[in-house]
Amino acid sequence: MIARILSIGTELTLGQTVDTNSAWLAQQLAELGIETVAHATVPDELEPIQAEIERAARDADVLMVTGGLGPTQDDLTREALARVMNVPLDFHAPTLERIREFFRSRNLQMPEADRREAMVPRGATLLDNDCGTAPGLRARIGRCDAFVLPGVPREMRSMFDRTVRPVLAGRGGFILQRVLRTFGLPEARIGELIADLMQRGRNPTIGTTAQAAVVGIRINARARTLDEAAALLDRDAAEIRRRLGDYVFGEGDATLQQAVAELLWRHGRTVATAESCTGGLLAKALTDVPGSSRYFLCGWVTYSNAAKQRELRIDAARIERHGAVCREVAESMALGARTLSGADYAIGITGIAGPEGGSPEKPVGLVYVSLASPDGCEVRELRLGEYLSRGEIRDRAAKAALNMLRLALLTSASQPKAAPEIRA
Ligand code: ATP
Ligand code: MG
Repeated sequence: MIARILSIGTELTLGQTVDTNSAWLAQQLAELGIETVAHATVPDELEPIQAEIERAARDADVLMVTGGLGPTQDDLTREALARVMNVPLDFHAPTLERIREFFRSRNLQMPEADRREAMVPRGATLLDNDCGTAPGLRARIGRCDAFVLPGVPREMRSMFDRTVRPVLAGRGGFILQRVLRTFGLPEARIGELIADLMQRGRNPTIGTTAQAAVVGIRINARARTLDEAAALLDRDAAEIRRRLGDYVFGEGDATLQQAVAELLWRHGRTVATAESCTGGLLAKALTDVPGSSRYFLCGWVTYSNAAKQRELRIDAARIERHGAVCREVAESMALGARTLSGADYAIGITGIAGPEGGSPEKPVGLVYVSLASPDGCEVRELRLGEYLSRGEIRDRAAKAALNMLRLALLTSASQPKAAPEIRA
């Protein structure tokens, strides 16, 4: 089963409104096992709407149309559909009565223009609208089952859930999706490690997307039954986890901070932070998770050298000798924060976020992240490079810190460390 999606609205073609309906609909169809092969967007004009409906009627089993069902001159979807079907528009009295009642119950007078919403292409069936006035339409055009829904996203979703989903369920088999989230391996390296699984034409299909240094591995399994699809997903997800080990930190919408939070809870451990160039970003991330008071004790933002000395008791000579951005100061920040807070773990971050302030020895993007733990203190040097913006450098530094803590918690729990030796 293949589908096409058509969004109607001049505000969409002009780019004034982003077409969220199509993306949402494509996701819903995918879950129902129906693959969307094209999205089209046309303005509120009769000919383009008609042409796109005709095209879908030739090429697709299902057509989802949104928009242009309203009461004004620029709402032309009904007319276009009637033209494609080569039928007249009939007046549907019960619909007009329902619309009148909609207004009456809100103590309003129905505008006469709303009569347009009671016009139905002959042979089409009506889809009930429970949160607006314009009903949706369903019509068979050749091999194609066409559904016309309102443009207003809330109305569209509600109508889809109540009237379209039940009709399409089970018709296309099932497509299930799972996303594994990874951190620390470049996307291209992941592509090499799971190259055989990513081959085109395979089921499940597997693809990667990188966003702000987190690489998502998307697995889509297609099968005749839900159980079969789930089994295919489980098999590939397990294989990917086996190959990537601890680089996988979660699934779905999981974030690094959630993964860290869960480990801290599970082991009853606490954390404190001492930040310079990230200005509190790490503390923010750690407290994004509801319930963070259970593991987050406190955070310092020690931007100046004086603050580092005064707040974290770092030896002035140490900073003078190496500058504020160095391994030694990072180490002292984490150790100072751990001692002063009494937390099990403390993280220090110092670096050069740019765009100014870099030098040949200490370029923009040089960041030291330190982790003080019951086992000692480890410091990592990051070279985030010249292509990242200040915001990106800060974001990557905070994420690298979260990941260091995550890996330390995994190890300290003596869980199986499955990560193979991978030189990224
Ligand atoms: P209806 O069929 O419900 O009357 P319409 O197209 O006639 O829809 P409009 O008044 O044009 O209604 O649009 C209603 C609102 O829905 C507007 O804010 C519009 O930008 C928004 N909208 C319409 N189509 C989309 C879409 N594809 N994605 C996101 N928003 C949309
Ligand atoms: Mg519109």
